[in-house]
Amino acid sequence: MKKKRYLFLFITIVLIFTIAFQVTSIGGVTNKGSDKNINFNTITQQEYSIKKIEKYEKNLVYNISYPIFSNQNLNKIVENYIKNLALDFRNSFDGVDINNQKFVFNLSTEIGSLNQIIFLKFDIEKNCKEYPNPIKYTKTLIIDTKDYNQMLPQDFFNKNYRDLFYQEAKKYFLNTYGLVITKESENYNDIKSTEENYSKVFFKDNNMQVYIYDYKKQNEIYINVDKSLFRPYLKKEYLEYNITTETSITTEATTQATSSETTTITTTQKQTTQTTTISSRKIDKNKPMIALTFDDGPNGKNTSKILDILQKNNSVATFFVVGRRLEVDKEIIKRMNNMGCQIGNHTANHKDLTKLSPKEINSELWLVNKKIKEIIGKQPTVVRAPYGAINNTVKTAAPYPFIMWNIDTRDWKTRNAKAIEKEVIGKVKDGDIILMHDLYDSTAAACEIIIPALVKQGFQFVTVEELLKYKGIEMKPGVKYFNGRKS
Ligand code: ZN
Repeated sequence: MKKKRYLFLFITIVLIFTIAFQVTSIGGVTNKGSDKNINFNTITQQEYSIKKIEKYEKNLVYNISYPIFSNQNLNKIVENYIKNLALDFRNSFDGVDINNQKFVFNLSTEIGSLNQIIFLKFDIEKNCKEYPNPIKYTKTLIIDTKDYNQMLPQDFFNKNYRDLFYQEAKKYFLNTYGLVITKESENYNDIKSTEENYSKVFFKDNNMQVYIYDYKKQNEIYINVDKSLFRPYLKKEYLEYNITTETSITTEATTQATSSETTTITTTQKQTTQTTTISSRKIDKNKPMIALTFDDGPNGKNTSKILDILQKNNSVATFFVVGRRLEVDKEIIKRMNNMGCQIGNHTANHKDLTKLSPKEINSELWLVNKKIKEIIGKQPTVVRAPYGAINNTVKTAAPYPFIMWNIDTRDWKTRNAKAIEKEVIGKVKDGDIILMHDLYDSTAAACEIIIPALVKQGFQFVTVEELLKYKGIEMKPGVKYFNGRKS
């Protein structure tokens, strides 16, 4: 008797899914793959509608919201995946008496795309009124739209990607709990560099969300790995070179209801996600490029002056800011970021890091990262150690790329615009990283000469990140970078 009833329920579910999945199909999927030869232009566009199903089955309630694409291959994978998730939920009550309790299964889907790869994230919540805490978990599904195959991170990343994620996971434990993770650590096995530990990822807003287990919270969490960090690990065929934005358009909503022993409500919203290229400043990789770096600021007057000069010359620079100065001037950090300048971490109090404990080093960097994130919504990805002082303790406690320099203008010493110019003009060459300090009038005055003069000579001023990227140099935590030349 019981078996028969389950069979009936099973058939009902299958039927409902079959009906529900046939409701809408919209437009055509345009998917132009990347082509590095056509000037880095890539347009990825995926159309989909979001469908909501609300279904009652005795004491089980399903609230499912998922996308329907116009491509049937894509839908087949997604439908199967969701069906299995819903069946898992139902099967978990096999042999359990649930007559007096109502269980709810909530599933919502988020979508991201990176070139031809589509990422789906399913947030699942199982709850019951009588239970104090709902069970929550996340599943990710990655699909290659070239052949509509399901993918794992190792399919689009080079094998070293796990090492990057491991470094980022270490950073998370350092920044969150002040813990330096080593092979002896309690949770080393949870985060060590294996395919299994880093199998769940989702791409959104230029970040790869990497799911890891946080043993302190006893929960799965995700860490954000910025595109600039993971890009060097993407396999060639999945690389794309754009700055992208995502837009969503909601145009239509329809509601349908069917009544039978179970109830299904379907809502459809047409949406379009679109990634397009925005570039106001074009970098020509065949022309020489240099990275100007300014330490110890921001300084209201001179930093503004330098930004004005950069802007006038359609150029950018990297500012290694000191935490204690950030309280004074937050707007200038926003301006740097809006202009496309890079903001690096030059510690909270400008102490010699080699004289500090790992915990103190961590807090010196963490305070600045936190503040910058509050201001512009993202953390610096690179560090310049005060005095360039770095030892092994610093490298372990601060798993960031360390940006050094190969041209020291000695501007802090000479405080003379002519002398500063002399250190740069005539000496500078492709790939150089130049050290200056945006504190002094003489430095700003020197920039007024140096920047337009070098632009005229055909140099491009780029950020440190851009320089290393265009020169094909991978940024790795704990490594010092003196210039944009492969040694
Ligand atoms: Zn400094």
